[in-house]
Amino acid sequence: MTLPLNANDPCAVIEADRAHVWHHLIQHKPFETVDPKIIVEGKGLRVWDIAGKEHIDGVSGGVWTVNVGYGRERIADAVRDQLVKLNFFAGAQGSIPGARFAEALVAKMPGMSRVYYANSGSEANEKGFKMIRQIAHKRHGGRKNKILYRERDYHGTTIACLSAGGQEERNMQYGPMTPAFVPVPHCLEYRAQWDLSGEEYGQRAADAIEEVILREGPDTVGGLCLEPVTAGGGVIPPPPGYWPRVQEICRKYDVLLMIDEVVCGVGRTGTWFGYQNYGIEPDIVTMAKGVASGYAAISCCVTTEAVFEMFKDDPDDPLNYFRDISTFGGCTAGPAAALENMAIIEEEGLLENTVAMGERVIANLEALSDKHAVIGDVRGKGLFCGAELVADRATKEPMDEGRVKAVVADCMQQGVIIGCTNRSVPGFNNTLCLSPPLIATADDIDAITGAIDGALSRVMA
Ligand code: PMP
Repeated sequence: MTLPLNANDPCAVIEADRAHVWHHLIQHKPFETVDPKIIVEGKGLRVWDIAGKEHIDGVSGGVWTVNVGYGRERIADAVRDQLVKLNFFAGAQGSIPGARFAEALVAKMPGMSRVYYANSGSEANEKGFKMIRQIAHKRHGGRKNKILYRERDYHGTTIACLSAGGQEERNMQYGPMTPAFVPVPHCLEYRAQWDLSGEEYGQRAADAIEEVILREGPDTVGGLCLEPVTAGGGVIPPPPGYWPRVQEICRKYDVLLMIDEVVCGVGRTGTWFGYQNYGIEPDIVTMAKGVASGYAAISCCVTTEAVFEMFKDDPDDPLNYFRDISTFGGCTAGPAAALENMAIIEEEGLLENTVAMGERVIANLEALSDKHAVIGDVRGKGLFCGAELVADRATKEPMDEGRVKAVVADCMQQGVIIGCTNRSVPGFNNTLCLSPPLIATADDIDAITGAIDGALSRVMA
């Protein structure tokens, strides 16, 4: 058999990619003159491209995913062993890794009880939205069907997830959106919408959610979906006082609290789940990226037993169960990989490392802000950090996107991959994103922030 492509010939790979691959989230015109970058190998937190250049990965696979780092043979072995035994069976039946991972997962999530398997973050969020909608029909005559989402948050790429997305640029030209998703204000204190600070600011931002519920009518609002720390919308940890008030409001108006842990989940913020930093008791939690660190595609929509019970309380009603399926939610590679991923985090003390290294990122960025006036704000939780770049510190005018991208490109040139908020909130695509794998050492962190230092000096010169 002749292969059409010589995998050992870098030029042939690049030409095949250029001719046939439609890359995600990128304008392709530049590839007519510039080669697409092909990543061929990874080990620890380093990756190598097809030209043999080594890079430190400061964003865990570009999108906050490879939490335990690259080249983990024990995950690959576990997946291989499982695949040769049983690769797939539809999720109406169970599997050994599915049962084992569900048990291990809820053990890390006191109060949560049931795991629904799917295979992307968007899909897990769709499941949560469908649960909220179905509960509205079962319990409230279909009326309590509105789902609130927050400005700047992102919940995925399907039309319903975009409808629940607070990043206008992602939605433009894809309308009409799905009805009955309603925005609430963001909670970023640096871009304050109220003349308050600290705890008072947090409570005020949460009160804004109550105002929306009252405006819409509490009998029409069934769910509130939030990221624990907003990711692509600007790396926004909530201000103090925010979450306790949010919880109170949800309970007061019988609104299901759905937490999107697609980025924060499984260690990213230094706790197993981002919401656990804030003492929240959610009804529904979704997760994807870090669940198996990208070694297999898996996502989960996890609920309390109370939510689950609502779907089995009347078995004679033919509509009274969750009428949903995810074909690839029946892949066994996902939970097999996820079990090893979780064991690695535990055995290597990666949550503790994440807390310590996250503090180092913030300290380094704050030191850089003494030197570079374009760093307007530094924020983060665990190894989930951001630096908002501004043209003017006094007015907080955002740095233009071209310059922000030039900083990212300069780092790439230096062999350090960092990210930035990308075509999400018009005028505010100005935050550098730093989220290396949770195995990062102090030297790795210093190398990443050192690259930013050099890049800022050059770009601003
Ligand atoms: N929620 C959040 C917070 C995300 O950041 C993302 C992806 N960046 C998603 C959901 C969607 O996940 P996926 O791309 O796997 O569908």
